Amino acid sequence: MEHIQSKINMLRCPDCNFNTIKLESSEFLKCENCNEKYYILNKNSANLLANKNMSTTKREIQRFWGDTCKQWYNAFDEKLDRNELEKHLQYMEEMFSYRKHLAVTEMKLETLQGLDVLEIGSGGGAHSAHYWLNLFFKGVLTGAIFQYPEYEWLGRITEGKPVYGETRNPVTRVYSRRQLVSLFKKYKIISSRKYGFDFGQLPIIGKYKIRTSLLKILGHKPHPGGIIVYGAPRLCGSRLELFLSQFVGYSWAIVVKK
Ligand SMILES: [Zn+2]
Repeated sequence: MEHIQSKINMLRCPDCNFNTIKLESSEFLKCENCNEKYYILNKNSANLLANKNMSTTKREIQRFWGDTCKQWYNAFDEKLDRNELEKHLQYMEEMFSYRKHLAVTEMKLETLQGLDVLEIGSGGGAHSAHYWLNLFFKGVLTGAIFQYPEYEWLGRITEGKPVYGETRNPVTRVYSRRQLVSLFKKYKIISSRKYGFDFGQLPIIGKYKIRTSLLKILGHKPHPGGIIVYGAPRLCGSRLELFLSQFVGYSWAIVVKK
């Protein structure tokens, strides 16, 4: 609680944007301007998600990812205890290191010690050159490109289909380096790089099977680190894919300073 109290001046109300959040009791924070309550989860954290003024798009993003996470993790979550979780986090870190993932390259744990971390996102970040290699063709083939604005058709054709609900992923954005530089113009860009390419992303029929067979012939084994991220062990990239990632990687890793 002291921890939350000491950071309270940094917070803004996610509903009305005023700097008026106060610690009301041991159970919740309250905004003095709009009276919204935000529940305290444990002594160091509170749930500061907007309650009432969430746009329809944001609500749909939430519903889509809720559906996806249920598909990926439910079976695994049910048998998870603390020891299992720690073991799998270790596997995940090893897998991320091999794949040069942002979370272990740009944000090494020891460099975060003593800092105030506002949020750690879950995703691989903004998509990049993937656009011309894969997404553009999918958009044309499904016809989605002719029906919706860019961020919407990209949302529809990426990230899979819902199983439990009706919501399609409503928004996915793709950025070139030039667009990123303009987006972060108020910041100093310390570094930016692409990562996360594999041949399964190319618009070729049977691509996943072809890639899996090839990697297995070359002696690659599925990495257990994939279980906690994708719900199943993951065939990590070959050396060639890791090399190509810097040019046509799926994700951006960006470090900026204000
Ligand atoms: Zn408020």
